[in-house]
Amino acid sequence: MKGEPITPPVVFSATYSFEKSDDLIDVVRNGSGYIYSRWDNPTVREVEKALASMEGYTDAVAFSSGMAAITSTLLGLLDPGEKLVSIATYGETVRFISDFLPKMGVGVERFGPDDIDRCIDSLNDGARVLYLESPMNPLLRVIDITPLAEHAHRQGALVILDSTFASPVNQHPIDLGVDIVIHSATKYLGGHHDLLGGFSCMNAENRDLVWNMRRMLGGVMDPMSAYLVWRGMKTLDVRVARQNETAMYVAQFLERHSKVLRVYYPGLPSHPDHEIAKRQMHGFGGMVSFEVASDYEGTKQFMDSLQTITLATSLGGVDTLVTQPVTNTHASMTVEERKAAGIPDNLVRLSVGLEDTGMIIADLEAALAQV
Ligand SMILES: *Cc1c(COP(=O)(O)O)cnc(C)c1O
Repeated sequence: MKGEPITPPVVFSATYSFEKSDDLIDVVRNGSGYIYSRWDNPTVREVEKALASMEGYTDAVAFSSGMAAITSTLLGLLDPGEKLVSIATYGETVRFISDFLPKMGVGVERFGPDDIDRCIDSLNDGARVLYLESPMNPLLRVIDITPLAEHAHRQGALVILDSTFASPVNQHPIDLGVDIVIHSATKYLGGHHDLLGGFSCMNAENRDLVWNMRRMLGGVMDPMSAYLVWRGMKTLDVRVARQNETAMYVAQFLERHSKVLRVYYPGLPSHPDHEIAKRQMHGFGGMVSFEVASDYEGTKQFMDSLQTITLATSLGGVDTLVTQPVTNTHASMTVEERKAAGIPDNLVRLSVGLEDTGMIIADLEAALAQV
């Protein structure tokens, strides 16, 4: 039959057959093909190559979730007795670094986005990994990555960045000196709130350690999710461009509003990291956080008054989602921890979707009038 499909086939096969034992042996020894889908799968390979090429690395390893990518990557790279230095705030990542890695004998030192000098001192004492997240959840702090990465490299450390909030469109981490880029594909890459997935993108020298850990722990992306991510990536550029634009309008609207105390958006000159973001990012992103001029109850009232914006955790997809961090993503922190992290009860995190900008603003306006 003439004619080739223009989309990749979704290969659900868990295992692969061979004519001859020698062929099977060659695949096991040399990785020259497929043998079992926990090792590799053609549909998963397709999306790994697509993301690697978008991010400018030679390869990528796809996982069942962003957390599977983060945990398998760090476990693959760190040995007992080594040290990890981090500036990161994603809740589950913090739990893994603070509670789990020390039990594996890995030394960990965590810093906030304003502790750069202390972070550099810690790198000077020797570290295997510098783990960063930028922009950071939920205050959208932006880390100046290039000088930190250069310093980490001089001390012999690998630089890993969770670039989920930026997506590959708004930030090109390889240009900033990042060795391994992590994405939760659940967010912008998939983009439709219908899959869980994660990636580690890297060059050949680190790939085997991460791939071997995935093969052993088993947190591999499934073929259907791989296909959905592949499809999501076809519209990533236009989705994120539109989300950047709408988020800027929304942030400016909120900053002018009398019922809003403070807006956190890297695209606004009032954001503490605006200058870094201008230099480092190609777009300011679709996430906007703000403080309602009210208390816990009043903010809840605002959330419940929204009509078209959806009350849901997660981010980066076609629907505009809103959360009050204190009630979910940051609920497990103590009051003191939240205070130290700058997460007040009246904080709202908005993930801007693809709806009409006027409609999003009208919904916010009406709900703020209830406060
Ligand atoms: C969502 C998210 C993760 C975790 O990804 P899952 O796909 O939910 O496992 C990690 N880091 C950041 C910044 C995220 O937003």
